[in-house]
Amino acid sequence: MINISQKADCCGCTACKEYCPKQCISLQPDNEGYLYPIVDTTTCIDCGLCEKVCPVLNKNSATEAIAVYAAKNNNEEVREQSSSGGIFSLLALQTLAEGGVVFGVRFDEEWKVVTHYCETPEELKVFRGSKYVQSNTNGMFTQAQTFLKAGRKVLFSGTPCQIKGLKLFLRKEYENLLTVEVICHGAPSPKVWEKHLQAIAEKSGIGGEPMSKTFSDIRFRDKRKGWKAFSCVYTPCQEGKKTQASTFLEDPFMRIFLADINLRPSCYSCAAKSGRSGCDIALADFWAIGMVAPELDDDRGMSLALIYTEKGMKAYPHTKTITQEVPYEKATQWNGGFKEVLTVPQERAKFFEGIDSCTDIHEHILNSLPRPKVQKKESKWKQWLRKWHLKK
Ligand SMILES: Cc1cc2nc3c(=O)[nH]c(=O)nc-3n(C[C@H](O)[C@H](O)[C@H](O)COP(=O)(O)OP(=O)(O)OC[C@H]3O[C@@H](n4cnc5c(N)ncnc54)[C@H](O)[C@@H]3O)c2cc1C
Ligand code: SF4
Ligand code: SF4
Ligand code: SF4
Repeated sequence: MINISQKADCCGCTACKEYCPKQCISLQPDNEGYLYPIVDTTTCIDCGLCEKVCPVLNKNSATEAIAVYAAKNNNEEVREQSSSGGIFSLLALQTLAEGGVVFGVRFDEEWKVVTHYCETPEELKVFRGSKYVQSNTNGMFTQAQTFLKAGRKVLFSGTPCQIKGLKLFLRKEYENLLTVEVICHGAPSPKVWEKHLQAIAEKSGIGGEPMSKTFSDIRFRDKRKGWKAFSCVYTPCQEGKKTQASTFLEDPFMRIFLADINLRPSCYSCAAKSGRSGCDIALADFWAIGMVAPELDDDRGMSLALIYTEKGMKAYPHTKTITQEVPYEKATQWNGGFKEVLTVPQERAKFFEGIDSCTDIHEHILNSLPRPKVQKKESKWKQWLRKWHLKK
């Protein structure tokens, strides 16, 4: 049976819980706010099936992409609402147009981050844009399987470990399944997210309200200041209350995420990144576009699309995009999401130890960030970003 002795050995995908024939696995949060499986040994029959579907226990070797594209959606409105070039929406709309179902990540009523599904273009909007928090996939692998068995087309999107978990859970290939992973730097803690949101609510003058009545909109990747200098924007429900907006270089939640401190333990030695999830298509930000194809870069968002399978190639929306083939090595420059192994920062343990006792999570974050020298060394692409803005 699943037995997590090292936290790094579980990415929280939920495949084991969903697959267990005795329903004796529950997922419970640890003190950092990440979910881990707990087995009820009194009902476990020791069948070992949970181990067969675990993406950490069943690592694949890496596969190479068959095509690598720089791409942007021709629909400017959709691109503006998307994190990168808006390619996810085109793939999803195509699935919906064929009577299919799209699984993606959205906020729930309390601004928690969850995986869910939609069946209409109107519902699809909530999946647009990255939410930099680990999503709870509870029940969604089983739900996807039900649609697949009924013959519906399914597009399932998520982090590489979620895609790998889904594929192991399904135990067979489905012709009607298209899997789309987002290239993943790592998954921030839902608990830190909750505390950060409470602090933002207080700054907006709406502290103490239930979370469902605080914000009308939250965006991690608002492009009003540009795609490369994206902002996190928190819009309060109540009129007259202050909208909080700051670039990713100022937002405390983004700073502790990008300093690699607020990441799940499994993210430092990821079992599914870089062509190992079995996905059909991987989507990323094409941060190096200014050097690889500057004529395409308008600072409104550019995707990097890696196509891994013939099915992915068939689904790729060539006619609705501006697409240019690019070399993999150049395309993945400046992008932390492609690093399979990250060093655990020395500040991580202290940061998580203090998240319950601190009185101000933002102050705690600022006190936990590495000294500037380390930051400078760790964020080469941010230096390039500043230079890029100076050149404009
Ligand atoms: C936690 C996380 C880390 C990332 N790290 C990197 C990185 O290091 N480098 C990089 O280039 N790109 C990274 N990305 C991917 C990038 O931010 C965009 O999501 C991707 O380029 C798709 O953009 P788009 O414009 O095509 O579509 P969008 O409309 O922006 O697509 C949104 C897609 O992201 C999915 N999604 C949103 N939030 C989550 C979540 N919490 N978990 C799983 N899936 C989610 C949605 O289901 C949908 O498929 C990351 C995304 C996430 C969620
Ligand atoms: S060994 Fe079988 S019964 Fe026990 S937890 Fe795993 S899947 Fe469930
Ligand atoms: S990685 Fe997924 S399948 Fe493996 S133990 Fe964790 S939740 Fe279960
Ligand atoms: S870095 Fe790897 S383990 Fe962490 S969320 Fe991303 S895909 Fe999962």
